[in-house]
Amino acid sequence: MIVFLPDHLRDIVGACEIAYPKEACGLLVGTVEGDGTARVIRVARIEASENLAPSGEEHFEIDPALRLKLQKELRETSEKVIGLYHSHPNASPQPSATDLESAWEPDLAWLIVSVRDGQGVQLGGYIIETDDVQSSFIEIPVRTSDWGELPAGPPIKGSGLEF
Ligand SMILES: [Zn+2]
Repeated sequence: MIVFLPDHLRDIVGACEIAYPKEACGLLVGTVEGDGTARVIRVARIEASENLAPSGEEHFEIDPALRLKLQKELRETSEKVIGLYHSHPNASPQPSATDLESAWEPDLAWLIVSVRDGQGVQLGGYIIETDDVQSSFIEIPVRTSDWGELPAGPPIKGSGLEF
């Protein structure tokens, strides 16, 4: 699970809408508890990056200087660079083949925002699983920190439906 502060998620989607029809990108800073698919990734800070890819409409490239600056800054703290985000203009939030090729850091979580006609419409959170042969993305839940437990109660029924 990846947990954002509500403002962060709004800021990321906003940045992706502003960058449209180009891709926006940036880094996520925070902490990770647990491992595998059970890990809880808490985002404490987002850092927007300039998209350095020559063709920003289909690719993204995070500024390596930003990554270095953050790693230096975070050296003595409990936080680290724990993930990245980018947008998919006019495409689903599913990771692309290019994304998979660049997913060589198994510790980083990915957030992908789908933007259609300048509006963020869908997002997906992913972690990378690697075995000896290949890497693959696994979708994980995306939540905001104000997301409480759902109250126990009867399941929601659609109107006019019989159960
Ligand atoms: Zn992508």
